[in-house]
Amino acid sequence: MRLSEFTGDSLMNSKNFYATVSLDRQANRRSDTAWINGKLNSQKSRILPVWRDQSLVSTGKSFTAAYLTHESLQSLELKDKPIFLGSLNDYSYFCVDLSHLDLPIEEFQSGIDNDFIDLRQIGGVMSPDEANLLAYARGINYWHKRNVYCGVCGKLTIVEESGHQRRCKNKKCNTIQFPRTDSACIVLVHNGDKIILARADRFPPKMQSVLAGFLEPGESLEDCVAREVFEEVGIHLTDIHYRHSQPWPFPSSLMVGFRARAVSFDLRPDEKELVSADWFTRRELKAITPESDIQLPRKDSIARRLIDEWLEED
Ligand SMILES: [Zn+2]
Repeated sequence: MRLSEFTGDSLMNSKNFYATVSLDRQANRRSDTAWINGKLNSQKSRILPVWRDQSLVSTGKSFTAAYLTHESLQSLELKDKPIFLGSLNDYSYFCVDLSHLDLPIEEFQSGIDNDFIDLRQIGGVMSPDEANLLAYARGINYWHKRNVYCGVCGKLTIVEESGHQRRCKNKKCNTIQFPRTDSACIVLVHNGDKIILARADRFPPKMQSVLAGFLEPGESLEDCVAREVFEEVGIHLTDIHYRHSQPWPFPSSLMVGFRARAVSFDLRPDEKELVSADWFTRRELKAITPESDIQLPRKDSIARRLIDEWLEED
């Protein structure tokens, strides 16, 4: 059963961009080396290369994921075996890190319109399944590159479970590490017919967005929502409700989306964090055009979905 069939909530049924759509991760087969090798060395394997956090994409009429075959891996010097991602439509998907090679990697780029591109530039116009696969490949590769050495004793680690854990080679230490994500809360704060949008210095020109911040040790997600909003705009919240979440492997976050009601309108923006923060009505936000002085977040972001859902409730 898919999650969408399980929840029964219409707002939960459509998934956020970069979330798993149709892929079967087959986590229970990761330790079955013979089964994994059979999948890898078959004509139905598709291998996604990642080069320095960029994804191989065909840039013809539309942006589509470009794959390597297991034969094409033979000529490459790989640092680790391909990571098993899962199965989709009768194909088995793997990814490999090619960051140690210098571009151009002629085998992948000659003759056709293939190029290594930052997924953030094109993910929003790709098919959801392909955007998910490239996000997954990029995210897990990022984790591997930063966990070559054990964080406990400093010795080398080895890859296990078809790329889904690393174990310290020091037998006395034997620490196992699993791919990790950094949880961040993102919240649409409303009061009556208004929501809070804020602008930080790092945002693209004119963009205003809902408030967000990283979870800290010892906090619940709801604690994090309340703390971040109070720190950033000085507002207390009530009715804090979870909405949905989004993998955001740029480089390694999980965005956990909430909606909450403010108990007042009195904003005190934190000048270190924000350039501005204001209340906006539905009418103001619906009137935004590409020429307006305010722009909403990109369409593939959970921030935009939280805003669009609220606007649609008018
Ligand atoms: Zn160790």
